[in-house]
Order: sequence, then C-alpha cells, then structure tokens
Amino acid sequence: MGCGTSKVLPEPPKDVQLDLVKKVEPYTGHKTDVYKHFIKDDGGGGLKAGCPSPPYHIQPYSGIHLASHTEPHEPRRTRVAKYRAKFDPRVTAKYDIKALIGRGSFSRVVRVEHKATKQPYAIKMIETKYREGREVCESELCVLRRVRHTNIIQLIEVFETQERVYMVMELATGGELFDRIIAKGSFTERDATRVLQMVLDGVKYLHTLGITHRDLKPENLLYYHPGTDSKIMITDFGLASARKKGDDCLMKTTCGTPEYIAPEILVRKPYTNSVDMWALGVISYILLSGTMPFEDDNRSRLYRQILKGKYSYSGEPWPSVSNLAKDFIDRLLTVDPGARMTALQALKHPWVVSMAASSSMKNLHRSISQNLLKRASSRCQSTKSAQSTRSSRSTKSNKSRRARERELRELNLRYQQQYNG
Ligand code: ADP
Ligand code: MG
Repeated sequence: MGCGTSKVLPEPPKDVQLDLVKKVEPYTGHKTDVYKHFIKDDGGGGLKAGCPSPPYHIQPYSGIHLASHTEPHEPRRTRVAKYRAKFDPRVTAKYDIKALIGRGSFSRVVRVEHKATKQPYAIKMIETKYREGREVCESELCVLRRVRHTNIIQLIEVFETQERVYMVMELATGGELFDRIIAKGSFTERDATRVLQMVLDGVKYLHTLGITHRDLKPENLLYYHPGTDSKIMITDFGLASARKKGDDCLMKTTCGTPEYIAPEILVRKPYTNSVDMWALGVISYILLSGTMPFEDDNRSRLYRQILKGKYSYSGEPWPSVSNLAKDFIDRLLTVDPGARMTALQALKHPWVVSMAASSSMKNLHRSISQNLLKRASSRCQSTKSAQSTRSSRSTKSNKSRRARERELRELNLRYQQQYNG
C-alpha cells in the first residue's frame, strides 16, 4: 500500500526546520535502479509491477506480482541463462536459481533451491557498486546477522563479491499480507489482532535489541506458507537502524515510505523506536478498512495530514469496527511519540489481549477487500481522479467522536489497570 516504490532513503540531516517537499524527496529509483535490465522473469515466478501501488492479484505463492519486464521475443531459456550468469559461481554451485520473486531499486529477490537438500530459499541480491545500495545492504546485514525470532525472516548465509551481496534467507511462500486478506474470503477483527500480535512480537524483539525497522508496511510483512495457520514474518531491513543494546541514542535520518512516516521524522526531530509504532498504527488502520489513514498524491499535503495526525473513521467498514479497535489505532497514531504506545503496551492493549472479543465475529472482508482493490486499480489507472474523492474524507465526525470518547474513558480506566498490572 502507499507509494510502494517511492521509499525515502536515508539522507544526511540538515539544520532547517520544515520544508516538506524538498526535504523528504520522494525516491523514484529511476537513476539508481541498477537492475532495470539485469534480470528477466523466467516464467516460474513473478516480479512486481512498477505501478505506484502494487495491484493485489489473488494468487497463491507463485503469484507474486507478474510484470511485463520480460522481452517476449527472447527465448525463455536464453533469458534464464542470461540472469543466471549474473550470479556468482559460488552461489550457483550450491543453489539452483528458480524464479524472480521480488524486486526493489537496488535488489532482486529470487527463489532458489539448495542443490543438495532440495530445500527452497530466497536469495536477495543487492548491488553494492553504488553508495545507496551499499548502505541499504550494510543496514540489512547488520540487523539480519543479529536477529533470531519466529516472526522475523532468518538469514541463512551470505556471499559477497566486489559488486554484489547475495543474502540467502528463509523463503516466505505465503505472499504479502494484503494479497492474503483479499484471497481469504473473510476477515474479522479477531483475524486482525492475530496478525498484529505476531508483528508486535517481532517488533518488540527488535526494539529490545535496539533495532528500529523504519520501513514497516504491508509489503514487508510476508506469510511464511500458504496454509491458514501460517505465521507472519517481518522482512526488508534495508532502512533499519541498529544500535547497541541499552544505547538510547536518538536517530535523525529522514527515511521510510511516505504514507507510513511518523510526524517526528518529518519535522526532523530526533526520534526513537516509536516511529515503528506509528507505522503499525497506519498498518492497523489499513488492516481494518483497506484504506489509508493519510493519503494524498501531493506530498506536502500528505505530510501536513500526518503532522496534524488528521485521519477519519468515516466510510465503510468503520461503523462496524469496535471502539476498542479504534482506541488501539488512536494510541498508535498519536502525534506525540512520548504518548504513543510501545510494542509491549500494544501487546497488552485490551483489544489485542481479548482478541477483539466484543466484535470478533463481524466479517469486514467485503469492505476491506473492495477498498483495497478499488484503491489498487484506481492508483494504477488514474491516480489523480482517485485522489480528489479521497481527500474529501479528512475531517473527523465530532458527534461520533464524542460518543466514542465517553466510552473510551471507561476503556482507558480498564486499560490502565491492565497495563499497569
Ligand atoms: P526492497 O528493499 O527492495 O523492498 P524486500 O526485501 O522488501 O526488498 O524484497 C522485495 C520483495 O521481494 C518483497 O516485497 C517480497 O515480495 C519479496 N521477498 C523478499 N524477501 C523474501 C523472502 N524471504 N521470501 C519470499 N519473498 C521475499
Ligand atoms: Mg520491501
């Protein structure tokens, strides 16, 4: 969701206060998409379309989005041979390269099979010839080498050459979070709490180690396998910041994906782990509605919405969503990072603890998937016209808010008791 391809990469901080458009420049990747003509899909998998927001095709694993980056007249065998040749012989001696399954500005992710064990893995190949690629790679390796957690993708081994790094990782075959939701046919608040519990477990672990992900978004949350009981795994640590344990040093770099960037990053205040919690607030909002809390094609308007913490619960399916769920989101989309829930607090929030007991059975699937699909197609076809309708839903309904606030005072009391206990 969001500007899938327009990650804001780290840049050195400047001392000026707020010049939104200039300072948080959308990253287009055009100049440095060094892989543009590097790998072609071999037909056994897929690769992501360069659409501003990925379309949510309903497909099982092999359905990671198929794009038209192939040269149709080129025989498949030639294409496969061409990109296999780009792999270091040490890698191909050990792994069979099967298919291209993902791509970013500096990386390509391929599905491989270990020749001896026949075990499937993913290899993320990062171009390190250029500074940005090198930095992304260093961050990712630095984190992946330190972590071991059931909800975080596991690094298996690394091959390094002068120009490329090949990271062999666990393969997640269950697809991205939202593809799964659309394909599933039903989605309740209870399902949402299950997803969030797993992500929060992973994030809590990272934060305990002094690691901030800084690019949490649905595209970086993958299901381990296609089964209904699959766990979710956090991936893509290219923007992560790792500090030593106990080191509370504040971060300053402006980076992330625009729709998920926390307000304190935009105003270039030193920030902490709590930026991940803001992103989780955005993810929770999307998870329960299929829409974005902050959205505008115009970057500076988008950032103004974020800075004000301006989002609404109007439109479907919000009337069917419990106040407890909204309270959970509100406590994450809190502009003051000091007042925002931590991962531990979020895990103890009554909505998560009770697994949405009060409203667990309502099926939100129809509205969520309709919203997701509507958004995906409108962004791909005509970003501009879709935008003008969305921008009209930016004010909160005061009436429903007052009622909610009354109810929330009670909830707060219970929450405080539970959280403090
Ligand atoms: P980027 O930094 O370019 O966003 P990611 O690490 O997010 O790179 O990988 C790009 C895409 O590749 C992901 O969105 C996902 O679809 C796919 N991918 C990445 N890692 C794996 C993995 N371990 N298993 C399966 N698919 C993966
Ligand atoms: Mg990614």
